[in-house]
Parts: sequence; structure tokens; C-alpha cells
Amino acid sequence: MTPARPDSITATTADTPDRSAFLADLRRVFDGERLITGYAQRLTYEADGHLLQKAMPEAVVYPETTAEVVHAVRCCHGHGVPFLARGAGTGLSGGAVAAAGGLLIEMARMNRILDVDPRNRTARVQPGLVNLKLSQQVARHGLRYAPDPSSQAACTIGGNIAENSGGPHTLKHGVTTNHVLALEVVLPDGEVLEIGHASGPAPGFDLTGLFVGSEGTFGIVTEATVRLIPQAAGVRTFLAVYDSIDDASETVSATLRAGIVPAAMELMDQLSIEAVESHLKVGFPRDAAAVLLIEIEGTPAELDALARRVVGICRENRCRDVQQARDEATRKRLWKGRKQALGAIGRIARSFYTHDGVVPRSKLPEMLRRIAAIGEKHGVRIANVCHAGDGNLHPMILFDPDDAEQCARVEAAGHDVLQTCVDLGGVLSGEHGIGQEKRNCMHWMFDEADLDQMRRVRQVFDPANLCNPGKVFPTGARCGEMLEHQARRTGGWL
Ligand SMILES: Cc1cc2nc3c(=O)[nH]c(=O)nc-3n(C[C@H](O)[C@H](O)[C@H](O)COP(=O)(O)OP(=O)(O)OC[C@H]3O[C@@H](n4cnc5c(N)ncnc54)[C@H](O)[C@@H]3O)c2cc1C
Repeated sequence: MTPARPDSITATTADTPDRSAFLADLRRVFDGERLITGYAQRLTYEADGHLLQKAMPEAVVYPETTAEVVHAVRCCHGHGVPFLARGAGTGLSGGAVAAAGGLLIEMARMNRILDVDPRNRTARVQPGLVNLKLSQQVARHGLRYAPDPSSQAACTIGGNIAENSGGPHTLKHGVTTNHVLALEVVLPDGEVLEIGHASGPAPGFDLTGLFVGSEGTFGIVTEATVRLIPQAAGVRTFLAVYDSIDDASETVSATLRAGIVPAAMELMDQLSIEAVESHLKVGFPRDAAAVLLIEIEGTPAELDALARRVVGICRENRCRDVQQARDEATRKRLWKGRKQALGAIGRIARSFYTHDGVVPRSKLPEMLRRIAAIGEKHGVRIANVCHAGDGNLHPMILFDPDDAEQCARVEAAGHDVLQTCVDLGGVLSGEHGIGQEKRNCMHWMFDEADLDQMRRVRQVFDPANLCNPGKVFPTGARCGEMLEHQARRTGGWL
């Protein structure tokens, strides 16, 4: 299934373009180790968190300033070389992979907090800043950055902006787009643009809103001004345990129907619980069919009343047990279990494929039943973690990557999961983006006129189609052909 790699890191092939002039131009700014072309070094970048579609960049640069990003982009523009930005590479849709070869611009060295304005509750940051570090740094001002992807200990603000990332606590506080006020971006021809305004919505078209979620295809974010929110006056966290996954997902619908918007409402099924307990032992009961992790925020007076209502709804929906985390250490342990659930799955399977569908919340029980049926139909095990309050599911299909026949069944099961989300009135992605992974499913949701309009918007920013090409838009292939078509570049262009 996988083509052989060349032994030599400098192997060349007849059909690869001559990049020597391009490299010479890059070297005028990127000297020494800040420009890499060796095969072994580039191998690090052949995939992101979505391991099924791989492609090698021809070269990688490590800019430290906006001016250096401009230089890299101008070189690409001048020589017609495709390029893309990369944050931490935790993306799960193949977005940070050089699908068309070219230059990968690694943003990790632009990772500073430039300014914090506690009075206006904003921060100006560079895009390579790791998400969690922002909240840690502003905590001394009683503030936090609300979007908290489960990958927040590694993923970057730039990647979050490109993917419009969510997280457990974005149920109440809103996803990334609700927290980005202004951006400095380098357009695909090297022009630097400042969009939005630190004081709030700017007049004219909302270009910041357009940029957030554009999956790195409109240009490179080099600076972001983000909104900070106060730390919660008080927090209560509950673990509700269920003998039926239906009852757990009914609890989610019932809570939101009652007008309660918890800060977070996360569901984990039996297989996920099993993985977490094998790995971390946080105290989820192994024999439960599902657990809900529910967090509410408010003043102490509000919390008492709210807690009674939440516990009541759990009980009305037949939870076996519901306990409040008794202290901060317990709360942290429970969240560790949830946030490291994906990693823990690696304990019970050689590999797994994480999906990211969304259904209307009321359809969550039906969707989870259908996922179980899809697993049975294709003979694959599927573990589920869900940002349940948002109707955002992450079914993880377990597999052995060396078993080609099983890989085909994984692909078919994934296809059915996504198709079912759309059939139930949901969407293809809640937060991981379309990337390479789901581009050939886009026509399930959009007709040609819709897609053409999106292409035209993209062309305004990137008429030469050099900025992260091969993402978002359909190629005409069947949805989900990623396993059999690993577009693996063998490298060695340079
Ligand atoms: C264990 C695990 C848990 C996860 N949990 C969540 C979750 O709860 N919520 C969620 O939303 N996601 C989650 N993700 C997915 C992923 O972490 C997010 O999509 C994250 O925002 C990616 O950030 P990154 O820095 O790793 O970006 P990368 O993967 O490096 O890049 C992602 C995209 O952003 C673009 N990009 C990166 N930097 C820039 C820039 N400066 N300018 C323009 N474009 C740029 C890239 O070109 C690419 O298209 C999870 C992933 C893992 C592995």
C-alpha cells in the first residue's frame, strides 16, 4: 500500500522541478538550520494528527518574524511554489500536510505573548503560541482564553484560528471565532494585512470572521488579538454514570431543553472509559455504558440552585450515580481522563481513526445507536467521545494499519458515520476542519453553486492557488478514499 522510500535523502526524480533558484532566494534570509531540505528532517512533517494521508514538503523554514514570513511567501509567489503554514501538527483532517509539495512554513518559533491588556481583557499573541500557555500566563490577572481544545497542551493559536477550533468549554463560551478580534496576516502574494480591531467588531465586511476557519488557505496569520474572559467565580464538576448510552445522551438533550447551558458537557462511552482507565485510572467506572462529565459555572449562590437542577435531570434520565468532584484535585483528574481520552485509545488498539461529525443535539441518542450499528455492520470497534452539548461526536474507529482488509472496512465505516451525520441534519465537521480528509464529502452538503462561490472567495485571497492547495475543495474522487490513496510523496525533490 505504501510506496518505498528512497534511501538517499537527496535523491531526485525526472519529473520534479528544479528548485535551486527558489532555495537560493530563501537562503538570503533563512540560513543554517532555519531552512531544511534533508529527507530525514522533512519526514517529521509528512503527516499531522490525521495519519492516513501523508505527503512530504520539499523544504521547511522556521521564521521568527512577520518580515521573515513575508520573505518566505514572496519567494513562493515569485517561483510559483506551493506553501502552507504549520502550527503543532495536531490537526486531524490532514490540513497541515504539504499535499502539493512545496514549502512548509513552521510557525513554532513565533510563539510569544506580545501584550496583555487586563483592563480591556485582550491579548496580542504570535500564532505559534501553545493554546494552554495563554490561559496559564493570564491567570494572574484573573483571566483565561476560553477555547480549550483537548489538544490545548500542544496545539497553537494559529492552528486554532485556521480550524476555528472548539473544545469542551466552548459550549458556553463559544468557539475560536467568538474570541478573535483582530489579525495580522501575510497574504499569498506577500502583502501584510491588518484586519479586525482590538476594540471589537470593525466596520465593513468581517474579514476576521472570514479568515477564522479558512483552514490556512487564505494566507498566514502572523499575529492575533484575542478576547480574554474572566475566570469563573465558581465551578462545580459532576460525573454522571449510566448503564445505557441512550440515557446519557437523553440527559444532554434534557439539560439543554431545560434552558441550562453548562460550561461543558462531555460524553464518553464504554470503550473510551475502558481505554482511559487502562491508561490513567482516573476513576471512571469500567462497567458503565457511558459517563457524562458536566461542568457548571457561576457565583456560589447560582451554583447551588443550578447543581440541584442538573443532578435532578441526570436522575430523571436514569443515571446510576452522579457525584460532584469533591475538590480541585478530583476535578483535574476527571478532566485529565477526558482530555487524554484520544491518546488513551492507543492503549487498546494499534491505531484509530477519529471522526468529527455533528448532529442536532436532539439526534444524539439516535446517532450513537446508528454508530453502534455501523460498527457491527463493518466488523470494527468504535469508541466515542463527544462534546455532547454541541452535538459534536468523535467516533474513533480502532484498527490495525497492517491489515489492508480491515483498513477498507474502517474507511467504509467512517464513510457511513459521516453520511449518517449529514442524513440526520448535521454537518461533516464540528471542529477538525475539512482539510484533505473530507474534501470529497463536501458535495453531500453543498451543490456546485455553493462550492463555486466558496472557490471564488478563496481566489480573492489566493488567485494563484499556492496557499495550502489540495484542501477543503472536492477533487472528484469518492469521499473517504484516504486509505487506499495515501498520496505519499517519497521526497527527494531537492
Ligand atoms: C488528541 C487531540 C485532541 C484534539 N481535540 C480537539 C478539540 O477538542 N477541539 C478541536 O477543535 N480540535 C481538536 N483537535 C484537533 C487539533 O488539535 C486542532 O485542529 C488544532 O487547532 C490544530 O492546531 P495546530 O497548531 O496543531 O495546527 P496544525 O495541525 O499545525 O495546522 C492546522 C491547520 O492550520 C493551518 N495553520 C497553522 N498555523 C497557521 C497560521 N499561522 N496561519 C494560517 N494557517 C495556519 C495549517 O496550515 C493547517 O491547515 C485535537 C487533536 C488531537 C490530536
